Amino acid sequence: MEQRVFGSTGVTVPVLGQGTWQMEDDDRASALRSLQVGLELGLSHVDTAELYGYGEVEELVGEALVGCRDAVFLVSKVMPNNATYEGTLKACERSLKRLRTDRLDCYLLHWPGPHPLEETVRAFERLQEEGKIRSWGVSNFDVDELEEVLAIAGPGRLACNQVLYHLRERYIEHRVLPWCERHGVAVVGYSPFGSGDFPEPGSADGRVLAEVARAHGVTPRQVALSFLTRRRSVFAIPKASREAHTRDNAAAERLRLSEEEVARLEEAFDSQGEQRSLPVV
Ligand code: NAP
Repeated sequence: MEQRVFGSTGVTVPVLGQGTWQMEDDDRASALRSLQVGLELGLSHVDTAELYGYGEVEELVGEALVGCRDAVFLVSKVMPNNATYEGTLKACERSLKRLRTDRLDCYLLHWPGPHPLEETVRAFERLQEEGKIRSWGVSNFDVDELEEVLAIAGPGRLACNQVLYHLRERYIEHRVLPWCERHGVAVVGYSPFGSGDFPEPGSADGRVLAEVARAHGVTPRQVALSFLTRRRSVFAIPKASREAHTRDNAAAERLRLSEEEVARLEEAFDSQGEQRSLPVV
């Protein structure tokens, strides 16, 4: 699995990881098996959050990681409502317990929330000093909010911004992605398959996607993952609770799209205007 430097951390992380949102609704044994197969195949960036199943998913991830924790880049997120100074410290302790570990590799603020960012950043810095987190980042932050974090924390502190990024949602390409690249911040694209809304071959854009896939003898989803991670600052974290899906996703790493194919996909999937704001989560 191709490794890339994860923002300012200097740590290398696989370009493709594993998401876990809504896994609490899936067959537990299948989700667990999927995660474990993913780890065997090198999808060792595992993304979760205290929000997911209100702790249930972190418990599942904790179980999947037994015996292989050290080989995993483990990420969790504090809910904005909990993200006061004290609230963040306590939320992290709860997540560590559910995940059966003594540290997170990266800890994120799930989205901009009601509490002063200074407090969350101060808590993140303390958790890092104590070795409970190795790095910290944010999620769903637009450029103005990223500037605010930079002003509070100074350069080189913010590890990543985890943002919505799929073929039909390329908003981040306009300003967020260039900002992150300028400041050495990793971009982690979430919902790379648009959650449940993946382009069907019957649609105009889906037809182009299917043609590119056919030319390489791969699946459209593999083309999507390759396209989304075409810049070295970008990582993707598809979620799969079925082993066959996980295997399909892991194999995407071998695919190399030509410049012409990338251009074709860029044209087929309109990146839309700069005027829209980041979608509310
Ligand atoms: P996604 O990864 O875009 O899509 C997941 C869906 O695609 C599931 O139904 C999955 O099915 C299916 N799938 C996966 N691989 C497949 C394959 N190779 N072939 C066919 N179907 C496949 O959805 P997502 O969960 O929204 O996003 C991924 C992760 O990003 C989340 O799990 C979460 O960790 C993170 N996320 C973060 C935020 C945030 O605010 N920071 C928001 C949303 C998501 P099965 O599960 O049945 O295998």
